[in-house]
Amino acid sequence: MRLVFLGPPGSGKGTQAKRLGQSQGIPQLSTGDLLRSVARSGTGLGRKAQTYMDAGKLVPDNLVIELILERMTHDDCKHGFILDGFPRTQVQAEALDRALRTRHIPIDAVIDFEINPEVLLERLTGRRVCPNGHGEWHIKFHPSVVAGFCDVCHALLVQREDDQEDRIRIRMEMYRKDTEPLKQYYAQRQQLRTIQAEGDVAAITQQIEAALKGIARPS
Ligand code: AMP
Repeated sequence: MRLVFLGPPGSGKGTQAKRLGQSQGIPQLSTGDLLRSVARSGTGLGRKAQTYMDAGKLVPDNLVIELILERMTHDDCKHGFILDGFPRTQVQAEALDRALRTRHIPIDAVIDFEINPEVLLERLTGRRVCPNGHGEWHIKFHPSVVAGFCDVCHALLVQREDDQEDRIRIRMEMYRKDTEPLKQYYAQRQQLRTIQAEGDVAAITQQIEAALKGIARPS
């Protein structure tokens, strides 16, 4: 099963992609995670990506497309994947279509996370992440066991640079301008399935599973 999760920053795409990915036995492919790991490597490319991310801006299409298409060739993607945070622009969507068409493996569905924008700000400003990439927590909705420290490696949790309020507003604007039009792109292809992304995490997973009824599980 090959899926795209489409939604604004903070709509819970990552959380849901991990849950569904585990139950379906397919990986979550997050371009944000891939880019942060490239940035941590400290190479010239990594530093370039970091500048865009810290500013809340989109990383150039060619860099993101190359990264994700390479990741999709790994063995764990044989039975499918969930794209989380990709595509984010029309150029990316078209590149994805072209790459999948060449391999004769179309996207099965695009899950559109619909959410009230006011909820997003509270979710994002309260988010804290492990600097070593072990995951993320929320000061109110999902605190770590020892407040402020990673449950896995006990490092001090940090706030992502782009989770500052001014940067969040830039990211929302980027979403509205560049990514939201993709809803129409996928609706025209009869691939779009909209879910309501507020409330209980397990209930949202159930909505996604219901939206995917009829799509075969990977063998
Ligand atoms: P995320 O973790 O999905 O919130 O992404 C964090 C940041 O990584 C974004 O604000 C962008 O700067 C960058 N990014 C992630 N995915 C993409 C993408 N598909 N295209 C361009 N930039 C991206």
